[in-house]
Amino acid sequence: MGRHALDLTGKRFGSWTVLGRSYADYTSTSVDFRNGMIVSHSTPRWHCRCDCGAEDIVIGSNLKSGRSTCCYNCRNKKISEAQHRYQRKAHIAIEMFEEEIADV
Ligand SMILES: [Zn+2]
Repeated sequence: MGRHALDLTGKRFGSWTVLGRSYADYTSTSVDFRNGMIVSHSTPRWHCRCDCGAEDIVIGSNLKSGRSTCCYNCRNKKISEAQHRYQRKAHIAIEMFEEEIADV
């Protein structure tokens, strides 16, 4: 404890580029079971810029673990692109199936 938080400034995590440490750390509390005391943990948050230009504050552990790799909009776009790909595949499968039936 007491160690200085790792500086992520300038590092890339997926589409994120870390611009600098955020003004406020993310604070969470939990109960220490050994003595019943409430302890608070502060997690560094980072000001990041996505490749699309959007900026957001991201919790450092989410960057390092890969849970956050791009902004909200880009993530939604990726999800809908994946859905389109899946739907297109499903559509092709149905067409092939219908052609097979037509051949019989
Ligand atoms: Zn983005």
